[in-house]
Amino acid sequence: MLSVRFWGVRGSIPSPGSSTVIFGGNTSCLEIRADERLIIIDLGTGVRPLGDYLMSHDFKKGPINADIFVSHTHWDHIIGFPLLTPLFIPTTTFRMWGPISSEGEALESVLNAQLAYKFWPVRLSELSAKLEYGQIQTTSIDLGEGLTVKTKYLNHPAMCLGYRFEYQGKSIVTAYDHEPYRNLFPTDPSDPNYDENIAEEGELVVKEENAKIQDFFRNADILIHDSQYTEQEYQNGKTGWGHSTYEYAISTALKAGVKTLALFHHDPNSSDELLSQREQEYRRKLPSSSVSGGLLSRISHLGGLSLVLAKEGMTLIA
Ligand SMILES: [Zn+2]
Ligand SMILES: [Zn+2]
Repeated sequence: MLSVRFWGVRGSIPSPGSSTVIFGGNTSCLEIRADERLIIIDLGTGVRPLGDYLMSHDFKKGPINADIFVSHTHWDHIIGFPLLTPLFIPTTTFRMWGPISSEGEALESVLNAQLAYKFWPVRLSELSAKLEYGQIQTTSIDLGEGLTVKTKYLNHPAMCLGYRFEYQGKSIVTAYDHEPYRNLFPTDPSDPNYDENIAEEGELVVKEENAKIQDFFRNADILIHDSQYTEQEYQNGKTGWGHSTYEYAISTALKAGVKTLALFHHDPNSSDELLSQREQEYRRKLPSSSVSGGLLSRISHLGGLSLVLAKEGMTLIA
């Protein structure tokens, strides 16, 4: 059985408080299980309660042994690392995977930089767990026992990987932090910098890159996708920040034949009330066939898509 449990669903910064009790305020952390195998994705603040859970459940059965995949090293995805309790247990083994940073710095070096006295009172030398590091780019890795992972670079202002886990014919894909590729060259002929050939070339590249992303999602049982903004918010100053809209995530999932879309990396300002409203609103739009013109209505016949907004504590089975 392949499943995912959400320990942190929030983007950018932890957002505790009375308005985030239902969806949760911890930043990115996912627990994937392929039967007994444990995969952790991202080390946001959600990894602290996950670590406590592993100590009270898994550790009773034997040493903790997991592969940890880091999407990228923005704070919200690594800041929980020093609070992962199994790091202080000598029998723990973590195989750490992730991309090199945009500055060419290895994952190990970025994570270890957090364990300096200016940021944190515990040093790297005080961690007892066995840590092995694997630096990855676009690749496919056989993790053994029938479990594989494919990776794909996403569009974000840092080197950021999406992951596709496959096990016993089931698949779980992650795609955050990510926004659709867009043409960076002027496309308006009245723009003094407009060049027809460059504009067309740009359009072609964008089309190809967005198609590759869609292929990466193809027929996934579960797609966990960035949805920090609405289309309106995105168009009003959030373009280029490396995050997607609900509309883009849903339309791409529909076109890729995804079965369950879990919208993820919620904006820290999005309250429980707002997220619940949006979940209902976007679900209502899904089966619509009577409204013409909108992208969602045009492609909804490809549907059969289940839509959820990720919540802390939620488990989905692929
Ligand atoms: Zn993030
Ligand atoms: Zn990021």
